[in-house]
Amino acid sequence: MNNRIDVVVVGAGPVGLLTAIELTLAGVRVLVLERLAAASMASKAMGIGPLGCEALQRRGMAASIAAAEARTFAAIKQFTQQTGGPDLRGRGSKFTGHFAGLSLIRKDAQNEPERRARPVDQQAVEAMLADRALSLGIEVRRECDVTNFVQQEDAVDVEWVSPAGAGHSRCSYLIGCDGGHSSVRKMAGFEFPGTAPTMTMYQAVADIDHPERLLPSGWHRTSGGVFSYGPFPGRLVMLDFSGPAEDRQATVTGEEIEAVLRRVSGADVRVKALESGSRWTDNTRLADSYRRGRVLLAGDAAHVHTPFGGQGLGLGLVDAANLGWKLAAVIRGEMPDSLLDTYTTERRPIAEAVLANTLAQMAIMRPDPQAGAIRDIVAKLMQFDDVNRFIGEIMSGLSIRYDLGSKRDDVGRLIGDRPVRRGDANVSLYDLMQDGMGVLLDASGDGKASGLVAASTQRIRCIAVEEGPSMLIRPDACIAWAGEETDGLYEALRRWFNPALDDGSRPE
Ligand SMILES: Cc1cc2nc3c(=O)[nH]c(=O)nc-3n(C[C@H](O)[C@H](O)[C@H](O)COP(=O)(O)OP(=O)(O)OC[C@H]3O[C@@H](n4cnc5c(N)ncnc54)[C@H](O)[C@@H]3O)c2cc1C
Repeated sequence: MNNRIDVVVVGAGPVGLLTAIELTLAGVRVLVLERLAAASMASKAMGIGPLGCEALQRRGMAASIAAAEARTFAAIKQFTQQTGGPDLRGRGSKFTGHFAGLSLIRKDAQNEPERRARPVDQQAVEAMLADRALSLGIEVRRECDVTNFVQQEDAVDVEWVSPAGAGHSRCSYLIGCDGGHSSVRKMAGFEFPGTAPTMTMYQAVADIDHPERLLPSGWHRTSGGVFSYGPFPGRLVMLDFSGPAEDRQATVTGEEIEAVLRRVSGADVRVKALESGSRWTDNTRLADSYRRGRVLLAGDAAHVHTPFGGQGLGLGLVDAANLGWKLAAVIRGEMPDSLLDTYTTERRPIAEAVLANTLAQMAIMRPDPQAGAIRDIVAKLMQFDDVNRFIGEIMSGLSIRYDLGSKRDDVGRLIGDRPVRRGDANVSLYDLMQDGMGVLLDASGDGKASGLVAASTQRIRCIAVEEGPSMLIRPDACIAWAGEETDGLYEALRRWFNPALDDGSRPE
């Protein structure tokens, strides 16, 4: 029996775990190597955009997201009761996101308001992914620090060190999901161009002597920088534009947080104790490609930017959803290696756009009067519905449309969940995608589209629907084809699922 591992995933962060889940569902053998002994407890993402959430919902984590969101809402409610602030759920705009700290994105201006960001923290996301990975029998080998690899013609030899000594694995493909400082990216020789750090940001949880002096909760731009207090007790985010820290590796102390908080907020407050604190910069970079031979990158390993608007985690999760089924189809021998190139062509422009919006946000958060003047204009422009929707869709990612060469606006978009009529009942489209299959929504009435699909591949579930258009949906929820008849369906099947289709199976 051939026990060779198909894919080694480096990093059991959220992106590495979802990548492993996608690959396993699609029938390939995966090993995840993770440097840390246990999941990181660092305070990072506090929310996740709609597309990242949907990637998790399609793989069985809808209930876990709802439970984590309920916990967040309960904590926020307690905080707002204690501080006498408004119930943020009523204001709505907090949970439709913000642009540069302008919490002006309106639900009523959005085309798909039900597809919204969810206030679920990164630790909860990592925990639900770890549970799902465990349930699929995925091996996550912890305390394994990947130190080197060599690409052979038909394999990658990976080396790591662990407390038990040095180890080695041979695999067909290696995926670096090892975060912003990715050693896979560096060792494989990817370029990582971008802009160098200019300032310092802090995220902390602190016991503050007079927290009421920092209220109301939310973003405040001052002559010293930007700060946000809440919506949990002691939670601070601060932007200090006086430059990057001299020693970026030095531990963040209570004294440092207090000094920056006093300067940025202008409030007379003291930090009595620091529960957690991290420092980061506006380092903004994007890998030149997401693939070099048998080595691929996903998540922060491929792109780093400031966390404004909470986009990084979702961006990485959608990378994983895009890559997983494609790589598995190549490994199974069903699709040519060139399918992997579409991973870069589809995902890299999306990251490029996210990087650009974070740079733009940073520019209008600076304390100088010129930045303030542009910021005021942006705030006024956001009163117009079209502008509000435009910015809302940039921040949610819902403006994403991969260029699949179709004139139809729906083709290339990631479809949201929707009820699908099955027999006498409605079922969720996403529930039908839990096992990683593609879906055909067949509105042809005579089953012609389903017949064509069934004769072409076993990887698509065909579902008759009453209302059109018919749609071919890839496992990552991308609409690969849509139409009233079957025109173009054959080409889409050949392109994404079965290149061996011969012209004899093309419909008349
Ligand atoms: C303060 C802050 C706030 C944020 N807020 C948000 C937010 O609200 N919303 C949002 O969407 N995003 C947010 N982000 C971004 C989000 O946290 C990241 O985009 C996300 O963690 C990326 O996940 P990842 O799996 O790609 O990388 P990581 O989470 O960095 O995981 C990489 C993993 O690889 C492991 N690893 C590294 N090197 C090796 C090696 N050589 N061998 C083995 N293992 C290795 C690491 O130990 C780690 O477990 C925030 C980030 C920060 C810093």
